[in-house]
Amino acid sequence: MKLSVIGTGYVGLVVGTCLAETGNDVICVDVDERKLELLKKGISPIYEPGLTDLLRKNLHEQRLQFTTDLPYAVKNSEVIFLALPTPPAEDGSADLQHVLDVAKNIGRVMDGYKVIVNKSTVPVGTAERVRALIAVETTHEFDVVSNPEFLKEGAAVNDFMKPDRVVIGTRSPRALALMQDISAPFIRTGNPVILMDERSAEVTKYASNAFLATKISFMNELANVCEKVGADIDSVRKGMGSDPRIGPQFLFAGIGYGGSCFPKDVRALLNTSASNGYSFKVLASVDEVNKSQRERFVEKIVTHFNGNVKGKTITIWGLSFKPNTDDMREAPALTIIERLLAAGARIHAHDPVGMEEGKKRLGTTVTFFDNNYEAVTGADALVVATEWNEFRRPDFDRMRTLMKTPVLFDGRNIYDPARLAEKGFVYYGIGRNRAGS
Ligand code: NAD
Repeated sequence: MKLSVIGTGYVGLVVGTCLAETGNDVICVDVDERKLELLKKGISPIYEPGLTDLLRKNLHEQRLQFTTDLPYAVKNSEVIFLALPTPPAEDGSADLQHVLDVAKNIGRVMDGYKVIVNKSTVPVGTAERVRALIAVETTHEFDVVSNPEFLKEGAAVNDFMKPDRVVIGTRSPRALALMQDISAPFIRTGNPVILMDERSAEVTKYASNAFLATKISFMNELANVCEKVGADIDSVRKGMGSDPRIGPQFLFAGIGYGGSCFPKDVRALLNTSASNGYSFKVLASVDEVNKSQRERFVEKIVTHFNGNVKGKTITIWGLSFKPNTDDMREAPALTIIERLLAAGARIHAHDPVGMEEGKKRLGTTVTFFDNNYEAVTGADALVVATEWNEFRRPDFDRMRTLMKTPVLFDGRNIYDPARLAEKGFVYYGIGRNRAGS
């Protein structure tokens, strides 16, 4: 099938590449020429496991093209996926400027029946707005489908190739037939394609992210209570997660969620609720708890140094908002670094794949190290902000000799407090025990 994907970022690039991998001819469009030049050479501008191999293979087999030419893409495809940014506006609502502009431009150059499939996360009613905008521009037939994307950065290729479910929001049998055809290779093991109307599909995406964010904030608040009462959140997590009605997934306490999706999607759903006359109280707390969790962690660090971190060298392991990605949008590590720098600390940083992005964001305010042991040399404390696998089993004896003082703030609860105490570290986790927390 001839397809195009407009927006070649974390979602669009994975979607385009995976659709080419299943035999479609795919044209990926972006406005960022620098990005497109890299992609044409088979270089991925983002870190995503497995993506580069697929990108090179499909470029080589000539199923994948990269261009800035939207009219060319529209004329040469029947189905057009939108994977455009929907960043938060001042009031928390999703900014639809990119989606609506592109929709209008598609309408202007359409030369026959097209299906416009929205993969961006957009507020309820967007499919109708896109339809109305295109209808003004063209006399050709078209359908607008809501097909929210559930891939996770760090596991995006696998998630797209083997989705838990595919949600298709449309009432058009013609568009549905095309969507089922495109989706078929990805759901061969029987995972469901869930059909619904466009509005419900739009809400489903926000509902999923908001619920996952709620789990995280709930566990973080519970961890804060555990600290007060001398209980261990990790034991509590295991005890509660074994109830099948609760389940073991997504119950890890830490320094809060980040990334380009959860924070913005929680705020956008809050905004949609409020602008429709409903106050979504649980979700307002989810957002508030997430913000305060980072501040509590900084307070813990500052309190350890008796309220004064001026001149202290604090090493940060992990800058990305989660492991296996170089994405630092709304990363907790950045808030922590900002606060510690403002309080006069010197920051050493290391991230397994995010050094380039980190340097772009933090410049010379931070000293970067390619090696995690070099990063802790001479440090007064180490902060683990992202639970990269590489950080899980370090040589603590070596670290103790390298660090000025062996103090470890474990923002992701990846270490055993007893083991760290044995190794001579002062250990702080999240909700782990009364003494250390
Ligand atoms: P991104 O910022 O990584 O990528 C967006 C791309 O669109 C960029 O390359 C940008 O240059 C390009 N672009 C902007 N305006 C354009 C235009 N007019 N024409 C062509 N290209 C244009 O964003 P992303 O993380 O891929 O997210 C895209 C959408 O998917 C958002 O709505 C997001 O909420 C949603 N989503 C993201 C994820 C995720 O994990 N990142 C998961 C599911 C859904």
